[in-house]
Amino acid sequence: MNILKVDDKGQAICEDCKKIVETTYLLRNVPFSDNSGVVKNVLVGVCNQCNSVVSLPHQSMPLVKEQLEKQRGTLESRVPAHFIDILNLASFELSGSINFTATIIRYYLHNLSNENLSKKEVNNYLTCDLAKGKAQKRLSIKGNNITRDIEKLKKITDINSTSKLIKIIILKINEDILMKKNLESIHFLKTSIAITS
Ligand SMILES: [Zn+2]
Repeated sequence: MNILKVDDKGQAICEDCKKIVETTYLLRNVPFSDNSGVVKNVLVGVCNQCNSVVSLPHQSMPLVKEQLEKQRGTLESRVPAHFIDILNLASFELSGSINFTATIIRYYLHNLSNENLSKKEVNNYLTCDLAKGKAQKRLSIKGNNITRDIEKLKKITDINSTSKLIKIIILKINEDILMKKNLESIHFLKTSIAITS
């Protein structure tokens, strides 16, 4: 493998200049494509004409991967045992295994954070019989935008407790997948499970 040094020259396609350009390898802070964070001081190819970052050399990959991993959010909560059972059942129904609970939570969290969840709906979830029970089991979910989606959902619902929001999400999953068998969600999730497995 060819190791590059700062100030080495190269060539790449520049999206801004819309052609193949001469590049110089320099250390730059590079934002993630979804703006959720920045990889600091990483060697990249910079367009000599317009100064934008146009390439990421292979040797920079480990650093980028590590920083991405670090900045990935983790959602931690404690829930009553039957909430884990709901997730396992939903995952089993969609994939025949219990390995996709995180995918399902991420999907519903993201959808709910982009939806108008009414106060009444929220209240219905939090006061229903299934919402009761001692929080005896730990739930931990990793995901790229997971903390951002939770913050968004907190604003929409006016609920500041993450564990309450998790309860709402899981009760929504129960209603949507296990009870109503919402075909649109089921189809979407089955497809994403097929891609990620
Ligand atoms: Zn350019």
